[in-house]
Amino acid sequence: MIDGAAIARTIREEVARDVAALSVRGMQPGLAVVLVGDDPASTVYVRNKDKACTGAGMHGVTVRLPASISQQQLLSQVDDLNADPAIHGFLVQMPLPRHLDADAVIRRIDPKKDVDGFHPVNVGKMLIGDTDGFVPATPAGVRELLARSDVETDGQHCVIIGRSNIVGKPMAAIMLQNQPGANATVTVCHSRTKSLPEFTRRADILIVAAGKANMLRGDMVKPGAVVIDVGINRVNDESAPSGHRLVGDVEFDSVREVASKLTPVPGGVGPMTIAMLLRNTVRAAERAIS
Ligand code: NDP
Repeated sequence: MIDGAAIARTIREEVARDVAALSVRGMQPGLAVVLVGDDPASTVYVRNKDKACTGAGMHGVTVRLPASISQQQLLSQVDDLNADPAIHGFLVQMPLPRHLDADAVIRRIDPKKDVDGFHPVNVGKMLIGDTDGFVPATPAGVRELLARSDVETDGQHCVIIGRSNIVGKPMAAIMLQNQPGANATVTVCHSRTKSLPEFTRRADILIVAAGKANMLRGDMVKPGAVVIDVGINRVNDESAPSGHRLVGDVEFDSVREVASKLTPVPGGVGPMTIAMLLRNTVRAAERAIS
């Protein structure tokens, strides 16, 4: 089992040490999260980010805005954060209410403060292998999990299910790079892929980010493959006090019989995302004073 919670804790400790080193130089890294509206999942996620930020000794700010805010007002908030010297990195929590243009908001963020790595400048840098940009936290977290679990990636066949801009595509770009911890042969599958099991059974490393509960079964996995489950799905469970529970995209019981390494849900990729966001913010702060 790849223990994402433990690896994320180690990274948060490393971040806290970097924050302490910066404080000697008179700098406290600052992360702001803009939350528009009161989507329950986003609210929980933002609260966790804030807690992790404070825990690492960083300056954390949550900017709460009503769902009725106009595009112009939101852009002006982004401008304020771009100009705020106490904030080294920030993000606007997605999804936004439908009347707002998310792409325009992302493009307005100063790429040097875009710690989510969604601005086209950072996407481009990631694609060409320029390490000066920011890599999105979830796929960066997956790379880190593989590296810290001693998974050989060089020359391995990495199959990714999902091609979203926040997980699948950046994941493919990362694994493809001519860099340590990457150098894989990459195949990307999506909802139009014909005969998905034929691809998944050829994977040495299988990264599943489809958002479909239990879609990857054991009979779709090559014995000995490493399986990373990015999915977070809420399913009904009458035995749980809340009436639901979280499961991944991987059918855990059947896949654990064949995989050599597997991430659980929860406690796998999820905790890595916030840890990598903190690390990106420290990097933004280091660059701001170097
Ligand atoms: P999206 O819905 O944006 O993308 C899902 C992708 O999976 C799409 O490319 C889609 O194909 C593909 N897909 C869907 N169903 C199938 C199928 N049956 N067979 C093959 N491909 C399929 O989701 P995200 O990328 O945003 O997120 C994916 C999952 O990861 C979600 O469960 C999400 O909650 C989770 N997540 C977890 C994070 C974490 O911190 N652990 C962070 C971000 C996301 P097509 O493009 O053709 O529609």
